[in-house]
Amino acid sequence: MNLYEYMGKEIFSSFGIPVPSGYVIHDVADLKPLSGSVVVKSQVLIGGRGKSGGIKFASDEAQLKEAVTGLLGTKIRGYTVSTLLIEEKINIAKEYYVSISLNRTERKPLIMASASGGVEIESVDPKEIYTRIIDPLTGYSDYIGREIVSFLGLQGEVASQFRSLLSKLYKVFKEEDCELAEINPLVLTAEGKVLAADAKVVIDSDSLYRHQKYNVTDPEKTPLELEAQGKGYSFVEMDGLIGVIANGAGLTMATLDALTLHKGNPRNFLDLGGTDSIDIVVNAFELVLKANPKAILVNIFGGVTKCDTVASGITAAKAKFNISRPIVVRLSGVREEEGREILKNNGIQAYSEMMPAIEAVVKAAGGA
Ligand code: GDP
Ligand code: MN
Repeated sequence: MNLYEYMGKEIFSSFGIPVPSGYVIHDVADLKPLSGSVVVKSQVLIGGRGKSGGIKFASDEAQLKEAVTGLLGTKIRGYTVSTLLIEEKINIAKEYYVSISLNRTERKPLIMASASGGVEIESVDPKEIYTRIIDPLTGYSDYIGREIVSFLGLQGEVASQFRSLLSKLYKVFKEEDCELAEINPLVLTAEGKVLAADAKVVIDSDSLYRHQKYNVTDPEKTPLELEAQGKGYSFVEMDGLIGVIANGAGLTMATLDALTLHKGNPRNFLDLGGTDSIDIVVNAFELVLKANPKAILVNIFGGVTKCDTVASGITAAKAKFNISRPIVVRLSGVREEEGREILKNNGIQAYSEMMPAIEAVVKAAGGA
């Protein structure tokens, strides 16, 4: 899960990493009186806000009001701005880059640092980037910090501020279950202070139960998608007519492709996952019904999810929600015959091949 900059900075600050002082607003009425120049920063989950006009500077009340009203409610590369971070403007002497990310190939943390900060790290010459894989068992040690400050050509007081910050960043990465903890730019101010001018923190979604205070709801999700997410389903709303319930992301995608190929546009993506439970099937129907499709296609390749469980779920859902719109089922794999029998006793025919089921549901939904 991606965190907003202000949340990342709250975390940094709680671990002792210096950040500019500031506050968050949602409305122009929340503005506090100005006590110096400020930066107005759009809180959207994308990088490159500076270049896209999402960051503005103000040195008097009129400029501040203009910046705030100019940003709230607008879109930055498709993302609506509803939150702003108002921060003291810092005097930048130099911009650096530091990050710790999870390297999936090595399956270990990777620390990176560069004296070319403030720009996208992908655009920096690899020779100018310090990289080191950290052994998670031994963790971060100050020799890594000394290596980094020497690579960046830092000395004295600035170097020691840098080293202290790096060890704290590793603590953030580890204790907050991060996939990424990035500071770009890490700023050296004209006054000789090192601080995090930006924060990009990504928390491993599988650890969210340990970080419930950072619950970021994806602003691009529909209410039904959020409801589905809360119930543990992978669910995406689309604008077609045919509701889809399948198992496994691959088969679900293949089902959407096959429907599209037959000019039967899907109303949704729903992956039951690999859990063998009648309730999960019933609740999936409830979600799909809320999307109000013309017909529903259930496409199951039985494995962990057994065909007879799904069949029982379908008949239970049909009774519970009094479903009269067409349901087309394809069952194949583990306990297929048992599943087919259950459906037959409830007046539903189940296909064993996918394509005939696709054709049948397209026809049931009113044809191509
Ligand atoms: P991003 O473009 O989304 O990565 O947003 P950043 O927070 O990194 O800001 C982009 C750029 O704006 C930085 O690289 C800085 O050059 C500039 N910037 C941000 N905050 C300040 C500030 O307090 N003072 C000054 N002088 N520049 C700033
Ligand atoms: Mn940045």
